[in-house]
Amino acid sequence: MIRRRNTIKSLLIAILISIYLANGAQAADPIRQYQIDVVPIANAGVTMAVTEEVSRQIISQADSAFNDATGGQIRFTFRKLHPTSFPDTVILSSGEIQKATGLIPVPDPGFDKAILVGVIANTSAAKFAGQAILGGNYIIMNGGWTLNSTGPGVLTHELGHSLGISHANSAVCTTQLPIVCEHSEYGDSSSVMGTYVNKYVSNPLISRFSATELDKLKTLPIESKAIAAESGDYKLAPVYSKGINLPKVLYIPIGSELTYSVEYRPPTGNDSSLSQSQIFTPSGTYYTNTPSHGLQLRILPTVGTQFKDSQPTLTTVSDYKFDGTALIVSTFKADQVQPIGKVFTLSDGSTLTFLSADPNTGAMVRIQRSLDKEPPIVSDLQPRWITKQWIESHPGRGNIFKGSQNEWEYPIAEIPLDAITDNRLIKTIQIEVNGQVVGQIDQPMLNGIDAYTFKSTKPDTFTFKLIGTDYAGLTTTTATASLTSSYFQMVKPFNIQVDPGKDPKTSLTVTVVPRIEKNNYVLENLSSGKFISRVTEDGNIEFTITDLVRNQKFTARLIGTDEVGHDDGGSKIDYQPEATECTNKQCFVGYQWNIETGYWVPGVGNLTLQERVGTKWVNIQTAKPIADPKGIMKKSVTFIMKVTYQKAGKHTYRFSMGASKKYSGLVLKPFTQVVSTL
Ligand SMILES: [Zn+2]
Repeated sequence: MIRRRNTIKSLLIAILISIYLANGAQAADPIRQYQIDVVPIANAGVTMAVTEEVSRQIISQADSAFNDATGGQIRFTFRKLHPTSFPDTVILSSGEIQKATGLIPVPDPGFDKAILVGVIANTSAAKFAGQAILGGNYIIMNGGWTLNSTGPGVLTHELGHSLGISHANSAVCTTQLPIVCEHSEYGDSSSVMGTYVNKYVSNPLISRFSATELDKLKTLPIESKAIAAESGDYKLAPVYSKGINLPKVLYIPIGSELTYSVEYRPPTGNDSSLSQSQIFTPSGTYYTNTPSHGLQLRILPTVGTQFKDSQPTLTTVSDYKFDGTALIVSTFKADQVQPIGKVFTLSDGSTLTFLSADPNTGAMVRIQRSLDKEPPIVSDLQPRWITKQWIESHPGRGNIFKGSQNEWEYPIAEIPLDAITDNRLIKTIQIEVNGQVVGQIDQPMLNGIDAYTFKSTKPDTFTFKLIGTDYAGLTTTTATASLTSSYFQMVKPFNIQVDPGKDPKTSLTVTVVPRIEKNNYVLENLSSGKFISRVTEDGNIEFTITDLVRNQKFTARLIGTDEVGHDDGGSKIDYQPEATECTNKQCFVGYQWNIETGYWVPGVGNLTLQERVGTKWVNIQTAKPIADPKGIMKKSVTFIMKVTYQKAGKHTYRFSMGASKKYSGLVLKPFTQVVSTL
C-alpha cells in the first residue's frame, strides 16, 4: 500500500469578494438549475487536452454530488466546450478569465445561472487546485480536468463558492468566558467546503455540506430549522436523514445574529466515511481522514457591531478573514467528535449540552440561556418611500400620481426593522402607524425579514414606530419617524400667452398650451369683463375676454384641473389695457377731458369754450394763453382747460377767441362731443 499525503487542503483558495454574508436563516428555494461552460486556456502556449466528453462526465459527477447533498434542489448541466483561448498574458486567477477569453456566461431560459470553468495546464505558479469568485460565475481549474482524479471534487468545492458559500473552518475555543477561538481555514472535515476527503475517492462522487451550509444554499425548508432563543431541550434529525420530523439545524442567536449552529451528522449512509480514519481509493491506496461526525457545534460569521462583547472572538495566524463557518473542535489534531454529555460555554454565558444522539430517532441538546435583563435597544427609525418618486421629471417623495392605468397610485413605504436589535434576539416587532398597530413580524431574523412594507391609501402624514419584544418579554419602542404623501400637483400649462384683443383698451385673449390634454382650464377671479373660450385646432385653449374696465389693470386666475379635481395651483393672468382718454369728439362719465385747444401764435387773446344750449352759446370756461407746458412748441402758446362729466350726453361746442392788442378776435367752427358711460 502506498500512503499518500493529503496535500489538497492547503491548495484550495477562494477569492472572497462581496464580503458581507448575511447569516440570517434562508427560506428554501425551488429547484435551481445551473449551466456550465468550459474553456481551455493556453498559458504561454501550454494547454491541457480538454474534451467535451470528459468535461461532461466531470460536471455530471459534480451534479450527482449536489443532487445527493441538496435532495435534488441544486443541479448542474454541461452546456458547451469553447475553443481553446490563447490569452496574451498568463492567466492564474478566476477573476481574469472574462478579460482573457472575452466570454461572459449567460444562462439559457429556465436556468438560474451559467458558470464558465477555465482550465489551465497544471502549474506550480498557481498555488491552488481550483479557484472561484464567491457568488460569481467564473472558476479556474489548475489542471485536474480528468476523471478518476481530484478534479471533480475540487470543482464541487469551487461550485460551492460560486453559489455563495465560504470555507468550512474549525476552531479551538476557550471553555470559559470570554470565549476566544483560534481558527483553522478548511479545518472542518465534514464539509466539502473544508477538508472532506471522501470527495476524492467515491464514485459516484459524494460531497457533503453541513446543514448550516445547506441553509445558506437555501435548500432547507423552514420546518428543518429551529432557533434556540430560550432555554430548553431541542431535538435534531440527522442532517441527511429522511422522514424524521425534526429540525436539522438549530441556531443560537446572540446580539440579533445567528451566532452558533448545532446539527447532527451520524456516520451512516453516504455519511459513513465521516467515522473512517482511512478512505481507500479503488486502486487500494488511501487518504488519511479526520473523523468528523456526531453532534456538531459551529460558530457562524457575525457582524457584531452592537453586541461584539457577547459574541465569540476569532483569532487567526493568517490574514484570512473569517467569513465561513467554524466547527468547534477540542484540538486541531484530534478527531472532530464531541462526546455525549459534553457541555459548552457559549460566548454570552449560555451553555449547550450534548444530551443524546441516535441515528434512527435523532439527537437532543440542552440549551441553558443566561439570564436576560436587557431590553431591546433602538437606533434611528428610517422609513422611506420606495415607489417611483418622480413623474415627468418632477421629483417628490411620497407622490400620489397617475399610473399607466390612469388610476391614482399611492406610494409604498419601507420601514427597516434593524432599528431594533437585542442582545439575544428580537421575538416580535410590532409596527405602529399613526398610533395604530398595523402589523407584526415574528422572528424577523429567522424568517429573513428585514423590513416592513406599508402601502398607503390616502394622502397623509404617516408616523411610524416600532415596538420590539425579546424572548424574555422585555419591550422597547423606537422614537417616531414620519413620511408624508400628497397628490402630485398637476403640472402647470406649458405656456400661457396674453395678447391684446380686438379693442386693446377693453379686451384681451389668453392662449393656454396645456401639458396634458385631458386637463380642464378655467378662468376665475376676473377683475372685470366677461369671457368666452374655445379649443383651437392645435389643441390650445383660447379665452377671449371683453368689456374690461378701461384704464384698469386686468387680473384673473387660470386654474387647471384634472378629471378628479386635482389642480395645478393656478396661474396669475395680468393685462394692462391700452389707455382710454377723452378727446374733443368722445368722452366718458367720470373721466377728465383735457380739452384740445391747439397751439397759437404769441400775442393772441383769451380763449373761451362755449356750448350751445338751445339757440344760445353759453360760456363754459375761459383761459389765458400760456407757454406749452410740455415745452415742445416753444414758439407757440396754448390754453389749459379741463372738464369732468357727471353724466352721459351729447354736447356741441365752439371756441371763441377774444381780441388782443395785436390780433382781432374770432369764432371757430362748432364741434360735437359724445359723452358715454363705461
Ligand atoms: Zn475554496
